[in-house]
Amino acid sequence: MTAALGYAAEIAKAPLVPFTFERRATGPRDVRIEIAYCGVCHSDLHQVRDEWGHGIFPMVPGHEIVGRVIEVGAQVRQFKAGDLAGVGCMVDSCRSCASCRDGLEQYCEQGFTGTYNGRERDTRQPTYGGYSNHIVVDEAFVLRISPRLDLAATAPLLCAGITTYSPLRHWKVGPGQKVGVVGLGGLGHMALKFAHAFGAEVVLFTTSPGKEADARRLGASDVVISKNKDEMNRHARSFDFIIDTVSAPHDINAYLGLLRRDGTMTLIGVPDTPPTLQFQHLIFSRRKLGGSLIGGIAETQEMLDFCAERGIVSDIELIPMQKINEAYERMLKSDVKYRFVLDIATLAG
Ligand code: NAP
Ligand code: ZN
Ligand code: ZN
Repeated sequence: MTAALGYAAEIAKAPLVPFTFERRATGPRDVRIEIAYCGVCHSDLHQVRDEWGHGIFPMVPGHEIVGRVIEVGAQVRQFKAGDLAGVGCMVDSCRSCASCRDGLEQYCEQGFTGTYNGRERDTRQPTYGGYSNHIVVDEAFVLRISPRLDLAATAPLLCAGITTYSPLRHWKVGPGQKVGVVGLGGLGHMALKFAHAFGAEVVLFTTSPGKEADARRLGASDVVISKNKDEMNRHARSFDFIIDTVSAPHDINAYLGLLRRDGTMTLIGVPDTPPTLQFQHLIFSRRKLGGSLIGGIAETQEMLDFCAERGIVSDIELIPMQKINEAYERMLKSDVKYRFVLDIATLAG
């Protein structure tokens, strides 16, 4: 066991405070990573406040982890000390169910092991995330990070990046399609970048009029203030695909009406209360409503390689660890451009 330093919520809804805990010794298939940066996902906030229930406390959040390998086990083949490495939302899965065999570990039928707020499959010890100075992870769940990208701005790709890349790929978004992105936060700004990079025409729906210029810079050809009914109606029955990233309860029916016949809307935001569905929007135009959860390890690597090739990273605000509680408050006000990233070097300060 090795002592680790992090920031934790000791009980649900408590502010994060410095916390020391133990990491396991580096096993034969393990990689130990000295964490350089960790992105701040709205899921961290939902879980620290126990909005999804069953939270394990003390909780050290963080699942957008990048850093440098400092130690590897004897059987590790893909990594050596000194390599850049990343860890996303998962650190293990059953590895034998149909989903795991298909490389879709996020849909593991026994439930994947979360990077934090989960339990190790063998010892049942709680997992602790990336708001900490190092982490030990089986190499099967460690990602290769290109030195060509800015390291801090790469961190959010590990969750916000893959969570938007995966559904856009699954539903084959590309040239000739009109795509809507709902919400311009961490996930939303990556959805804009990817949908634009895949060649689609992209429209952003936002509640924040001040984000219009940024949305256009990030790839939107039009920006709709979602509270304005006239602006919404202009786009009625025109979208092939809409991806909804909103973190709070809101009306999804207004967006279903903007899909063309046979269009698809995918939910990726996880508000604490479920939406209500006016099913006639589906039935009368054969529309589809779906959902999507992060992405598998192989697809996460594919996304990271795509980003390295195309020079895609997140737009970030780098903050010291001590500002995390303030960052959560700003996130709740939709005041983040467009992802907070923790500079883990400040942890001990
Ligand atoms: P975020 O950075 O806080 O962005 C959420 C955006 O939603 C805000 O910037 C805001 O955009 C919009 N919004 C917030 N409150 C709203 C309201 N009351 N009505 C309408 N719009 C509102 O959050 P994030 O990190 O991108 O995460 C978004 C959601 O995805 C969270 O629920 C998170 O837990 C979930 N998530 C899901 C997965 C998955 O695998 N499916 C993975 C990661 C995260 P505007 O200012 O533009 O309106
Ligand atoms: Zn996340
Ligand atoms: Zn499985």
